[in-house]
Amino acid sequence: MYIVLLGPPGAGKGTQSKNLAVKLGLPHISTGDILRQNVKDGTELGKQAKGIMDKGLLVPDELVAKMLDERFNNPDIKKGFILDGYPRTLPQAGTLDQIMASKGLSVDLVVYLDSSDKVIIERLGGRLVCSKCGALYHVTNMPPKAKDLCDKCQGALYQRSDDNEVTVSKRLEVYKKEVASLIEYYTKAKKLYRLNADLEAGVVLNQITDLAHKVK
Ligand code: ADP
Ligand code: ZN
Repeated sequence: MYIVLLGPPGAGKGTQSKNLAVKLGLPHISTGDILRQNVKDGTELGKQAKGIMDKGLLVPDELVAKMLDERFNNPDIKKGFILDGYPRTLPQAGTLDQIMASKGLSVDLVVYLDSSDKVIIERLGGRLVCSKCGALYHVTNMPPKAKDLCDKCQGALYQRSDDNEVTVSKRLEVYKKEVASLIEYYTKAKKLYRLNADLEAGVVLNQITDLAHKVK
């Protein structure tokens, strides 16, 4: 089952993808996570992407497409995946279809996590990420048991460099400019389902799981 999660930064794509991946036994593929790993490892791609990401802009299509194509060669996606952060634009939706078709695959379900600006800003402002395992926390909504330490692996928690007010508003602006055409594309393909992502994370997870079971 090949699932794509769409939605603004802060809608909970990361949290939902991680939980859904465990629930359905599928890999979670986040283009943002792969890019951040490249930045951390100091790869050529990471060097090119860092400044762009910190400005809240999109990394050039050909770089992200190549990265994704390589990721899809990993046999762990044989039964499906949860894709988070891609596509972000209409051309990227076309690229995704092409890359998947070249491997005999296609997207089964697109879930659009709709969220209000107020909730988004509140969630991103308090988001914390584990530097070791990538687990997500929130200072008030989902606090770690020990301050700044991951419950799962004891790794140090940090705030993403693009989770500051200026970059968040840029990310939201880029998102809003692009999302309408994606919604139209997947509505036409009869693959799109919209959920209210302002609701509590557990409720949203159950709704996505129900959709996944209905579709396939
Ligand atoms: P969020 O969805 O919370 O904004 P992500 O972790 O998905 O954050 O992405 C962080 C940054 O990584 C984006 O602002 C962008 O610079 C880059 N990025 C991630 N996915 C893509 C993509 N599909 N195309 C271009 N850039 C991307
Ligand atoms: Zn951790």
